[in-house]
Parts: sequence; C-alpha cells; structure tokens
Amino acid sequence: MSGNQSRVQAIYQITNREIKPFNSPKRLEEMWAKDVFTLSKMQECLPKDVFKSLQKTIKTGEPLDLSIADVVATAMRDWAISKKALYYAHVFYPLTNSTAEKHDGFVSVQGDGSVISEFAGKVLVKGEPDGSSFPNGGIRSTFEARGYTAWDVTSPAYVMETDNGVTLCIPTVFVSWTGEALDKKTPLLRSNAALNKSARKVLQLLGHKDIAPISSSCGAEQEYFLVDSNFAHSRPDLLLAGRTLFGRPSAKGQEFDDHYFGAIPERVQVFMQDVEESMYRLGIPAKTRHNEVAPGQFELAPFFESANVATDHQQLTMTILRKMAKKHGFLCLLHEKPFAGINGSGKHVNWSVGNATQGNLLDPGDTPHSNAQFLLFCGAIIRGVHKFGPLMRAVVATASNDHRLGANEAPPAIMSVYLGSQLEDVFEQIRTGEIKGSQLAQTMNIGIDTLPVIPKDPGDRNRTSPFAFTGNRFEFRAVGASQSVAGPLVAMNTILADSLQWIAEKLEAELNQGVELNDAIQKVLQEIMEKHGAVVFGGNGYSEEWHKMAVEERGLANLPTTADALPSLRYKEVEELFEKMGVLSPVELESRFEVYAEQYILSLEVEAKLVVSIAKTTIYPAAINYLSKLTSTMASLNNIGIKLDTSAIEKIATLVNQLMAEVEKLSEALEKEDFVDTEDHMKYFAQTILPMMNEVRKYADALEGEVDDELWPLPTYQEMLFIK
Ligand code: ADP
Ligand code: MG
Repeated sequence: MSGNQSRVQAIYQITNREIKPFNSPKRLEEMWAKDVFTLSKMQECLPKDVFKSLQKTIKTGEPLDLSIADVVATAMRDWAISKKALYYAHVFYPLTNSTAEKHDGFVSVQGDGSVISEFAGKVLVKGEPDGSSFPNGGIRSTFEARGYTAWDVTSPAYVMETDNGVTLCIPTVFVSWTGEALDKKTPLLRSNAALNKSARKVLQLLGHKDIAPISSSCGAEQEYFLVDSNFAHSRPDLLLAGRTLFGRPSAKGQEFDDHYFGAIPERVQVFMQDVEESMYRLGIPAKTRHNEVAPGQFELAPFFESANVATDHQQLTMTILRKMAKKHGFLCLLHEKPFAGINGSGKHVNWSVGNATQGNLLDPGDTPHSNAQFLLFCGAIIRGVHKFGPLMRAVVATASNDHRLGANEAPPAIMSVYLGSQLEDVFEQIRTGEIKGSQLAQTMNIGIDTLPVIPKDPGDRNRTSPFAFTGNRFEFRAVGASQSVAGPLVAMNTILADSLQWIAEKLEAELNQGVELNDAIQKVLQEIMEKHGAVVFGGNGYSEEWHKMAVEERGLANLPTTADALPSLRYKEVEELFEKMGVLSPVELESRFEVYAEQYILSLEVEAKLVVSIAKTTIYPAAINYLSKLTSTMASLNNIGIKLDTSAIEKIATLVNQLMAEVEKLSEALEKEDFVDTEDHMKYFAQTILPMMNEVRKYADALEGEVDDELWPLPTYQEMLFIK
C-alpha cells in the first residue's frame, strides 16, 4: 500500500470493529486456581504420608524425598489428563527475561502397539531440555552442553490452556551438568535460603525461640501500553524493537492528566477482564487495574505472594498480557519507553520479609518490642543499599530501562533510600546519638523494651525515589516493565542477608563482652547510620541539586547507562557478597555479566539497524515523493503565472539531506568490529551508536512535521495513542 493507505485502512478496521462484550462474568470461586494443582488438590488425591512429606518439602525447602516422586507424578498426571492435557512441560526461566518450556507427550507406546499415558516420578523431578542455545555466558561449552531442569516443589504445577491445546506445566530450576545456575530461579531460591539463615540469627539474638522459616514476599505492579495491532503491523520498530524509533509527539500528550485513573476504555476493560479470568484460573491474585499517566497506558497489580511464586506468576502475567492482547486485536508493549515524550512503563517491586511466627519483619508494629526488630531490619537494608548501590543499579540495567531511569518520570539512576519524614528523623537521631524524639514528641531510647511506637504511616509518598519505604515494605521503583523481577529480588534478598549476618556478628560480639542487648542494638544501629546514612534521602530525586550532592558530597554512584552499570557485577565486593551468601559463584556471576552485556549490545544493534532501514526505505521515499509532488505542482502553477513560495521545498530538501547524511554516519559506525572487550563494546553502543540514532530520528521527526499527511506511511503517535 502506498502513502497513508495502510493507516487509513487501519483506522477503518478499528472504527468498524465490533467489541464483543465480556461473556457473563463468572464467580471468583468458580475460577479461582481451577487450573492449578494446588496443595488442597494434592491432599485429596495423595496418600496421607506422601502428602505430609511433600508438604514438609514445600514449607521448609528441604529436598524432595525421591521415593514419593512416582506417586506424586501419577496423581499430577491423572489430574492433568482430567483437564484434557496431552503434554507436559518443564517451564524454566533462562537469563533472558523470558519464560522457556519444552513440551513432551504423555504418550508411551507399548510392545503391542497400543499407547498409554505415562509420567514417571523421574521425569517429574528432572528433565533434560538441552537448551544449549540459551545464553549462558560461557558456563557451558558445547561438548558439555547438557542443561537440566528440576521441579521447584515450592511453586505449584498448573495446566496452561490455549486454543492449541492443554499442557501440564511444571515450574523448574535450570542448571548445567556441573550444577551451575543457568536461570533466574535458582539464585532466587538460594537468596531466600541465605536470608532465612541470617534473619533467623538476628531473631534468635532478640530472644525469639519459635521461628518459622523466613522468606521474602513480592507484589509487582505491571505497567503496559496497548496499541491496536492494525497500527502496530505497519510499524516495524514496534514489532521488532518494542518501541517507536521514530515519531513526532502528538499535539496532545499527557499534559492534561486526563488519562490517569480515568474511565477505562470499553474495549480495554473487556481485555482486562479476560486477562484477569486467566490469572484467577492460574491462582494469580490480580487485584488492581487502572489507566496510567500516559494515553494508552495501563497498570495491573496482583496481591503480594511469596517472592518465588510471585516471580513465576509475574512471568505468567506478562505472557498472558501479550497473548490476550493479540486475541483482542492489540499489541501489548512491555517496553520501558515505547513512545518518546510521554511516560514510560515500570514495574514497582514491593518487597517485604517475614514468616508465620514473627509476621512481617518490615512492619513497625504496635509495640516497642517489635520496633527494635523493625529498626534492625530497616537498618540492615539501609546498609545494604549503600554498600551495594551499583549492584542495585545493575540489576535494573537494560537497554530499554535506560530510557526511563533518570528521565524525570522515573527514579534517577542514583540509588538512594526514602524512609518518609518520621522514620528519617528516627534514624537521624540514631546517627547523632542524641535521641530526643523530636517528631515523635517523646524521649526515645532504642531497645527492645523501651522504644516508643513508630507511626505506621511513613508520611508523604515520594515518587522520585528509586527505593522507598511504604509503611510495611520497600518499593523498588527502578525496575523496568519488561524485566523479570527475579534479579532485583535476588539482589535485595542477598544484600539484606549479608547485612543481617553482619548485624548478628556485631551483636554477638557486644553481648559476649557483657554489653546489654538494648545498648548493643543502639550501638549497631548508630554504626550503620554513621557509615551508611548517606544513602537516605527524602528530597526531590529528579533535581539537579540532588544529582550533584549525591555524587560530590555523599559519594553515591550515578550510573546513567547499562554500559556504566553492568561492570559493577564484576566488583570484588559484589563477587564476595554473592559467594559468601551462597547465591552465585564467581563463575555464575561473571556469566550473568556476559549475558546481560551481550543482550544490551544486541538490542541496540537491532534498533540501529532498524533506524537505518526505516529511514532509508520508508521515510526517505515519502519525503522524496512529497518533494516531487510539490515541485511539479509549483511548476504547473508557475506556467499559469502563479508563484508560490518555494522555501518549503528547500527546507524539506535540506532535512532529507541531513537525514541521509546521519543515516550514512550510523551505517558506517555499525561496521566497527574491533573492540577491546565487552565493556568497551557496550560503551561504544551507549556513547556512539545511541546518539547517532537520536540524530537520525531528529531529522525524520522534523520531516513528519512537513510532509503531506497523505503520503506519510507510518502510523502517527496521535493514531497509536488515541485510537482504540
Ligand atoms: P500503590 O499503587 O499505592 O503503590 P498498591 O496498593 O497498588 O499500592 O500495592 C502495591 C503492591 O504492593 C501490591 O501488589 C500489594 O499487594 C503489594 N504489597 C502490599 N503489602 C505488601 C507487603 N507487605 N510485602 C510485599 N508487597 C506488598
Ligand atoms: Mg506503587
């Protein structure tokens, strides 16, 4: 189709689309966890002793008793077959942010040619998907390319029903032949174990006797954009890179704030309900939905769950959003910055730590006793974020999230902690050692019996902080919309585990010297604030002053791009942290650096190639067409004595030449192959290629403002954002 024909067609299709009303809403109980092999379903169909043994494994994380695997597998198979499943899949989470699965049939051919459905314990607990093409950062050479999946008993199996059939899905870890983690789940489970160990020590020192297993929880708020697929299909950049590489901002953007929390468009609401039904059936507690700030942008948040299950559910949520969008004629964009000039999408990761006996350890609680405990855990986090700020930046570093961080809509690339004014005041008093309790209007002594109650409301919200305390949890706001939440959770769990271990050792040493517990706690907290208080910041994180103060006065790192941030995975102290906590070996950590760096380079390379090809084959021809239309019209008018101002022709011709000169520069720059190392390669893309892409875009977008709309081939911002 030439000119704007595809756009006209798209608008015709969209405006004539029949919105199918949501088929009668079902009762929640009817849908809830219908497709999950839940504990209660297991209890129904497993012998008592088998169920008990399995339940123990789930609760304590102890290894599964292999002698029960066959019984469990048979029960799981029978349940899956009753849901019409013919296949099963070990689902795993490679170092890309995606979900991977390999399907195998239950079919087993017998000697007499008949078939039966077979699913033995050994294939339930272990699979060998090969998967040698997944990025592994050098852990596996091809000759030992075997990778194994192993059932994660703590995350329930489920059936995935699509139009193409039903599959039993088993969440698994993915490890190499030599036992190294090739995935995102293994370190998450390990980080939780490390956290359990250190937190337990601290709780014991505080006098607790009965301590249930401690684990982290996560509630991840997912932002996303919906664009009608009729438009998306005419935008190679959206299809291949997930973001617009060109596009002039529409005259109206988000400045009226009229989209935020506005009425959800009918078609989108039907989509959302379909998404939620799928989520409920899979036992994912979808809880909140609303329009977000930018036009065409929405948010979905579930109720929080244990970090491991929440992570699996988050991956499923992204899959469901994408799949359901297709069904409803949308493209769902999880990219952090699909459109220039309006807000991008994040994924706030709400995180807390707790157990069944002591409850939420980040809840200030109602009693002085729990307060001391709370201050220690909170202090541990302050220490961790300060010591490992660059790591916290690295775990949210991707090519796409770089567009968002520091772009005055999302937190800056400087890691700081927001506590709210009251809590900040408490910690400031701890730091100075002059504990008077100004804002609390009470005299304050830190100690397990004497501390006054800290108000639960942290005071005002601060949207400019990357890491904010929100009453009974921390909210890591720098996480990108398309990211797996596993990496950020691993980092938070591990730095907390490390700090708690440090605290436990300090407290123990003090107690051994005969210091009173209250005094010891106060001393440890004071030391934390003296050394690490610089990371606490309650002001405007977007401001120039903060950027200056953070770096120059407080010594915090400002790592604006992934190329700056990822190398911190190679810092000695980061390596030691992960090794000491038993979360990642140096080899595993290095492999992550390699994989993420490679992904960064590859994503920018794809984008740069797209910029060149779209500019050359789509935008340049449109501009030339317009030029020729203009010149011939002006010539004809000239023939009958009418003279038009020809400066428009010159202006457009100049823009076209500038555009093509920049395209040429970019193409040449992409030829470079000799790089010192991976870090050099990343820097080249961040500092040379990306600015060149922006230059091409500048002229292309200027042309969009000049060329006859009838000749413009790419769906515009206005169309993509406002027509639904
Ligand atoms: P807001 O939009 O104001 O940030 P929401 O009420 O939407 O807050 O909640 C954000 C997320 O935080 C939800 O997923 C919620 O379940 C989760 N959350 C609430 N309490 C906790 C907690 N203690 N630990 C982890 N996540 C939590
Ligand atoms: Mg939030």
